[in-house]
Amino acid sequence: MMDEKCQIIDRSGFIYNGDTNLEWPLSFNILAKCSTTKARTSILKLPHYEVETPIFMPVGTQGTMKGLTTDQLENLNCQIILANTYHLGMRPGPETLQKAGGLQKFMNWKRALLTDSGGFQMVSLVKLSEVTEEGVKFCSPYDNEEILLTPEKSIEIQNSIGADIMMQLDDVVHVSTRGPRVEEAMYRSIRWLDRCLKANKNMDSQNIFPVLQGGLDLDLRKKCIEGMLMRNTPGYAIGGLSGGEEKHEFCKVVSFCTDHLPASKPRYVMGVGYAIDLVVSCALGADMFDCVFPTRTARFGTALVPWGQLQLKSGQYATDFDPIDKECHCSTCQNYTRAYLHSLVAAKETVGCHFITIHNIAYQMALMRAIRESIKQDKFPDFIQRFFRTMYPLGNYPQWCTDALETVGVFLKS
Ligand SMILES: [Zn+2]
Repeated sequence: MMDEKCQIIDRSGFIYNGDTNLEWPLSFNILAKCSTTKARTSILKLPHYEVETPIFMPVGTQGTMKGLTTDQLENLNCQIILANTYHLGMRPGPETLQKAGGLQKFMNWKRALLTDSGGFQMVSLVKLSEVTEEGVKFCSPYDNEEILLTPEKSIEIQNSIGADIMMQLDDVVHVSTRGPRVEEAMYRSIRWLDRCLKANKNMDSQNIFPVLQGGLDLDLRKKCIEGMLMRNTPGYAIGGLSGGEEKHEFCKVVSFCTDHLPASKPRYVMGVGYAIDLVVSCALGADMFDCVFPTRTARFGTALVPWGQLQLKSGQYATDFDPIDKECHCSTCQNYTRAYLHSLVAAKETVGCHFITIHNIAYQMALMRAIRESIKQDKFPDFIQRFFRTMYPLGNYPQWCTDALETVGVFLKS
């Protein structure tokens, strides 16, 4: 690990010398804007599919959604999913994906796909990683080989996967990091963006989103936005959040970024998946989200419902013959009871996780659809009131939600 105090911040490469007239295969048409908050609903036209935003993107680690087929994902109204470059680069590997004609053909997914850069996986999975100007060096947990992931390598793998949206390799710093390392990572991420843009071989079919860095420091965020805007990319990701920072800080950064990013392009907040976070982030003007939470929590027997969560492991459901949620239209709620799901989860039957995963994805999709519909009718503030009253019937709303919503003109009624 590098000593933070010894860092010399390299600010080179801030000014862009490349092509700013790139034609990206993406269009973003805003259908309606909330007249109170910063929320908007749009059609994001991508090479493989037209996606309605605000959208939640479920995460399929290895090119699958943990036991779900692509037909099931379509039936659940998933419009875009996220695949992990790091895992796919290891298995099946870029050559196989290239031969298969890309991941979408390989896994028979006809809708839109987004790939991450692989960088975050390394920082989160691999303890021993080192960042240099060249790239991120780490030991592969697959075979212990030392691997150097460069911006060029990340794009090469992502080009072989062929997703509609690729993420730049960014210099990830943990949200708890303070001092010059945050500034260094921000400038380096801009330099790496340029290397990613240069490395992309599929300009006609694949978009690149930059990842805004700068931690919780709004001056650095502003500087980063200024640098990224010069590159004229088709959309923007707000990175470096959802790492355990105070929710107040999270909202402050998201809101600041949406204020300074162009309204005409999609804004993706990485790593957001809790229902209340999604509702608040939409109100703050964000359009796209991803998180492993809904599918991961399903594997532990937790079902998401409008009033919170059901821990189906709990004995209280052993003789409960209601579905998870009577209002839910998913195949699990149409066919199975809490008691049955409890017995599956208690017996650690994988099919139990499968049924709950279907429900949890259906829950996320229905939530986002309801948000979009309410924005179209310009009733999003009413939706927010109803949503919070259902989630917190006692009116004990988290303070950060109340505060963040007040900044966009919504005052939660107790
Ligand atoms: Zn359901």
